[in-house]
Amino acid sequence: MNPKCHRCQKTVYPVEKMLCLDKAWHKGCFNCEVCHMKLSMKTYKGYNKLPYCGPHYPTTKHTTVAETPEQLRLKEATSNQSGLVYQKNHQENLSKFTTVSDDPETLRNKKIQAQTSGLVYQKDHQENLAKFTAVSDDPETVRNKKMQAQQSQAVYQKNHQEELGKFTAVTDDPELVRNRKMQEQASTIAYKGTAPPGSREADGFVPDLESQQ
Ligand SMILES: [Zn+2]
Ligand SMILES: [Zn+2]
Repeated sequence: MNPKCHRCQKTVYPVEKMLCLDKAWHKGCFNCEVCHMKLSMKTYKGYNKLPYCGPHYPTTKHTTVAETPEQLRLKEATSNQSGLVYQKNHQENLSKFTTVSDDPETLRNKKIQAQTSGLVYQKDHQENLAKFTAVSDDPETVRNKKMQAQQSQAVYQKNHQEELGKFTAVTDDPELVRNRKMQEQASTIAYKGTAPPGSREADGFVPDLESQQ
């Protein structure tokens, strides 16, 4: 039985058959996945078992990825921007932490925690960014990684904007302010999924609220 042409799905008879990339093609159907420029065994570039012309061969730069290059480029631009915005927000948060006026000991602890979480955030970020610049996997893996990175950044940003909102509103009485800060720290810790080493949360400390049950 004669195979079907990968491009046009019609039967390929031996006289016009071309076998390449584990597929059968009509000689005239062997062309670039993106622009359909006619290719030969000498001119094609195989990627993911599909033929591409030189300009459309997927590279690590992501400027020419198969299927929807424009979409991918937009996604990348968006994620890079949100990464930058996110870091900017962080620096604003950190500077706000330094202006809180509790007693010095509390203040110092808070600062340390804030800085620690800031560093973890930034580290995560650089890892994310590094993934973008160092992608040399197959397109599917790369796409998944990007999606994940974008999702986590989106969550970061959302949390962050909530934090910013809380912080900008701290002009209430000191007790209220302190409660809010506690909540803020708790949510930051919960958000990171790990408590800073030596903190009460890390030792399995259960807040009073829950121990009363
Ligand atoms: Zn064909
Ligand atoms: Zn092409």
